[in-house]
Amino acid sequence: MVLRSDWSTRPCPIARGINAVGDPWVLLILRELVAGVHRFDQIREQVGAADNILAKRLKYMVEEGLAVRAPYQDGRARRFEYFPTQAGADTLPILHAYTLWAQKHTPSEGHENRLSIICRSCQLESSSGEACSHCGATLTTANVSWIRPTYEDHRPRPLTKSVASLACDEIVL
Ligand SMILES: [Zn+2]
Repeated sequence: MVLRSDWSTRPCPIARGINAVGDPWVLLILRELVAGVHRFDQIREQVGAADNILAKRLKYMVEEGLAVRAPYQDGRARRFEYFPTQAGADTLPILHAYTLWAQKHTPSEGHENRLSIICRSCQLESSSGEACSHCGATLTTANVSWIRPTYEDHRPRPLTKSVASLACDEIVL
């Protein structure tokens, strides 16, 4: 699936990275998948995308190995939920870079407009997105919690670990 002109063979890795995960919707969907939002309706509610936009991106993300989908039963209907692969979870420093850049350069009043990166190794908020600014631990989806603007209780919630990327796009967890 092509979302724009193909930069996948450009020599610059920044261009190749943007080609793979530079789409705004893809980044917002990755934000939801690592934050533990896995079902279509819930992702749609969080990112505010139209159904066709969301469906197209999720298909792209499965094809590109950023996400896997797993069936679940919703009453009589068989639906799918989506989980980040290792490649998807490895975008965490990118999401953190957006967070920290935006909090510096597009400031917004109020605690409710911040995303706090909490290192679970030391339980402190990190001011860096790759390694904890307090204890130095490498920050991954396995050891980070977020306090998101949408968390009404302002309590940290652990991120979702990646699942193995499989050739088949349907997994049973
Ligand atoms: Zn730490």
